[in-house]
Amino acid sequence: MRSLVLPLIALTSVVAFALTPPAKLKVLIVDGQNNHQWANTTPVLRNVLESAGCFTVEVSTSPAKGAPAEAWKDWNPNFSDYAAVVSNYNGESWPENVRKNLEQYVSNGGGFVSVHAANNSFSDWDEYNKMIAVGGWGGRNEKSGPWLYVKNGKLYRDPVAGNGGAHGPQHEFVVEMQNSDHPITRGLPKQWLHCKDELYSRLRGPAENVEILSASKSDLTAELEPNLMVINYGKGRVFHTTLGHADYSMLDRGFYETLQRGTEWVATGDCIATAEVPADFPTAEKTSVVTLEGYPKQVPPAPKKAK
Ligand code: ZN
Repeated sequence: MRSLVLPLIALTSVVAFALTPPAKLKVLIVDGQNNHQWANTTPVLRNVLESAGCFTVEVSTSPAKGAPAEAWKDWNPNFSDYAAVVSNYNGESWPENVRKNLEQYVSNGGGFVSVHAANNSFSDWDEYNKMIAVGGWGGRNEKSGPWLYVKNGKLYRDPVAGNGGAHGPQHEFVVEMQNSDHPITRGLPKQWLHCKDELYSRLRGPAENVEILSASKSDLTAELEPNLMVINYGKGRVFHTTLGHADYSMLDRGFYETLQRGTEWVATGDCIATAEVPADFPTAEKTSVVTLEGYPKQVPPAPKKAK
């Protein structure tokens, strides 16, 4: 009898180990200042990540705009505790020690995600601009680096003079895949219709070690402007989405899926937990709106009436 019990115990523990779900990836969302409604959109970003099932989410909120220097001394997120840091921040410069911590975290292999106006931030922080590859506004111009877009099917760095960052009126637009063989885009439709949003254009920056995963044709520039990008920074990985102006822009199954995958990819280098393409993924003709209780709280602007 004894000879049977021991192998049984061993087998049971092996099965129990195999059934233990993999540890969830810890993600930190950073917010606190933005020219967008960050307090309204951070809960949506939290839902995007938590609904994927493979992340736990914490939020670190910086001091408010104009806060005294002492308030900033108490704000020093321990980035290295997390598998990925997602920025919903566009505001005042961070203290030197926080900037250095983020640089070291990402260059040592950490994951960073820039959402929409996070790429407006920190135009004078060179290392941040290398992480995100390109950004807009904040005085960015040809001195910040080339304007990045897709030309003849290839990534193109345009040195032309001009300000960085532009968008026209908000509208739904088609996101066109430029590389369907990346873990973040694998299996997704070549074209999908994104919910009402700003189509960021004329983004400029160092544009080093960057790959454009998707782009959309801008009415403003008539170019294919990048909206999903991946960047290597030291040993770290960065996912940059220009999408997500408002809560109604984020409540898009396409935004959900690509942000989930982008966050898993920066954290692990692959998209395993998020690989399944949702049945309600948008098509080229039809948006797919995610249901989230109490949302959207923001009201999209009405289309301009033709005169
Ligand atoms: Zn915006």
